[in-house]
This record gives sequence, structure tokens and C-alpha cells, in this order.
Amino acid sequence: MLIYDLTKEEIITFLKDNGYKKYRAEQLWHWLYIQKIQNFNEINNMPKEIIELVSKTYTLSALELVLKHESQDGTLKCLYSLHDGHLIESVLMRQHYGNSICVTTQVGCNIGCSFCASGQLKKKRDLTAGEIIAQVIQTELLLKERINYIVVMGIGEPFDNYDNLLKFFKTINDPKGLSIGARHITVSTSGIVDKIKEFAHFDMQVNLAISLHAPNNEIRTKLMKINQAFPIEDVIEAIKYYLKQTNRRVTIEYIMIDGLNDTPKVALELVQRLRGLNVYVNLIPYNEVLEAPYKRSEREAQLRFYDILKQHNIQVTLRKEQGHDINAACGQLRSQHL
Ligand code: SAH
Ligand code: SF4
Repeated sequence: MLIYDLTKEEIITFLKDNGYKKYRAEQLWHWLYIQKIQNFNEINNMPKEIIELVSKTYTLSALELVLKHESQDGTLKCLYSLHDGHLIESVLMRQHYGNSICVTTQVGCNIGCSFCASGQLKKKRDLTAGEIIAQVIQTELLLKERINYIVVMGIGEPFDNYDNLLKFFKTINDPKGLSIGARHITVSTSGIVDKIKEFAHFDMQVNLAISLHAPNNEIRTKLMKINQAFPIEDVIEAIKYYLKQTNRRVTIEYIMIDGLNDTPKVALELVQRLRGLNVYVNLIPYNEVLEAPYKRSEREAQLRFYDILKQHNIQVTLRKEQGHDINAACGQLRSQHL
């Protein structure tokens, strides 16, 4: 088992069960998350027998770098191999306000959205919490810089790996470890209604983004077959519930596809759907993938859509593209490599 899979409490219990005091667990935690050791032998302030016990019970190596690709704008895409040979990717984006990493939560994804490269790769398995954490640590080591922001928008549906996701949040947030503030973390879901409601009661102020992509069931089902299980009315209702519980603004992700969901009529329909909700819409020009028949919206259509939302007092941003030249849309490096 990977040592990063353990919460601090679990490390305390493990060492206690073996006759060691709590401060030993705190020391170990420091080595793992502040020093970011890659080998237990690097520990130099703990008794040999503890180090032996830990290293024969747990492993430290979760990921092996297979490929990295850096683009002009500094975006760094890393392809990692897991212990069982599965491949995952993490994307590091350098922003003016800090470094941000996009992490993967599953090998493949079962939601199967028709526009998404990763949706074509059926889920092989969930990542453990430790494997998600390791993406942050390995990328920091590679970069030799700190990562300040986390977006859970890589391959996979995070709310389909809910318990490991929450464990991941707890560990990276620990002030005596990676210390990434909850407000610097964003998780994106395709709209698993019951989990959105459950997440409303999670005790960290993590940002929530919902992949809506359409204002009605007809278009949304075309893009996301999960809309049949969780139709748009239910998703909106879950968002309302979340807003009421948390008082925190929700991000609505909206990829823009030529002729499908980018017309003025659709924009007005979206205005109706979102009116009165404390949300902001992030318009994302679609990144074309070989596996899907869709085209990116024309620039004029993007701007027109943006203007209509704005005129109707819907908070909106039009995402500038990043990492476009290295296929930064989720799943693409992996599917090319396979
Ligand atoms: N499964 C989750 C999180 C991962 S996808 C979800 O769907 O929300 C993260 C975001 O990238 C989603 O909003 C998704 O719709 C978007 N996305 C996927 N493929 C894309 C593509 N080819 N171009 C632009 N955005 C894409
Ligand atoms: Fe899965 Fe998200 Fe891709 Fe849909 S968009 S297939 S939910 S990763």
C-alpha cells in the first residue's frame, strides 16, 4: 500500500499500534509532505526500526514519469505510469497568480461524454487518494516550484471516486504538509446529483464546478448521456441545494461547440435556466478531438454568446486557451500514446 493513502490519523494509529508515540507520526508526515522524500532512507531523525517498519509495510513510489511535454506558454503536461502499468496524466499550468495543476482521478471514465477524448476510454479503475496526491508531489519535484492551485479536471469523474477524493482534499490541505488552501482547490463534476448534495455538507470550502454544456435536456443528452440519469432540472435543483447550504458561488462550465450549443437562442435559454442563481459561467472554446465529430465555435459566436449572458446580468468569462499546442484537453496525451 502507498503511504500517501494514509490519513494522518491512520499513520498515528499505525505507529501507536506498534508502540510508538504520536510525534513520530508527525515527523513522518513532515518527511512525506514538507521534505517530499522519495526514499524512506532519507529520514535522519527517527529510529532505524521505525523506518524499517514503515518501509516494509508501505511504498513511496506511486508514479513513474513516462513522458513530459512543455509548451510555449509554460504549460507542462506529464504522462505517468502507475504501479500496475496504467497511464495517467497531470497538466501543470503557469498562471500570473501561481502554479496550477490539473489532476486525474480515474483511469478512463465511464460517463462517456460524446465530445471527450477520455470518455472513449472506459474506466479501468479508480485512483487511490495517494495516487492523486502523488501527482501533486511528483510534479512539484519535477518543477522545483510549489503548486498553489489544484483543479480536479483531468480524466475521470471525481464524484464517482468520492471517498478517495475527499481523502485527497484533506491531505493536501493539511497546514503541516502541502498546505493547499481549500479556496485554491476546484473540483469539476459532470453532474452526479446525489454527490453534489452530499458535497454541500463537506467541511472544507472547496470550489465546485458543474459541467453543464447545455441549457436543455435535448442538447445535453446528446453531449452527455449521463443527462438521462440526472436530467438538467435535477442538476439545477442540486445546485440550488448546494448554494443554500454553502453560500458559495458555483462555476458552470460550458464548452462551446459550433452550431450545437452556441447560438443566441441557446444563450437566452441558458439565461432563463440560471437566472437568480449565484453562479458564474465559464465559457470554454471546445478543443477538437479525433474521437468526436464536433467543431469549435467560431470566435464571433463565442463573443456573441458571451455578450448575451453579460447583457442579462449573468456573470461570465470566456476562457483563454492554454496548452492548446500540446493537446491540453483532458485525456489527449494519453490516448495518443496508447
Ligand atoms: N469529469 C469531470 C471532470 C473532468 S473533465 C467533468 O466532466 O466535469 C473537465 C472539463 O473539461 C469538463 O468541463 C469537460 O467537459 C471539459 N472537456 C472535456 N473534453 C474537452 C474538450 N475536448 N474540449 C474542451 N473541454 C473539454
Ligand atoms: Fe468523463 Fe468528464 Fe470526459 Fe465526461 S467530460 S467523459 S465526465 S472526463
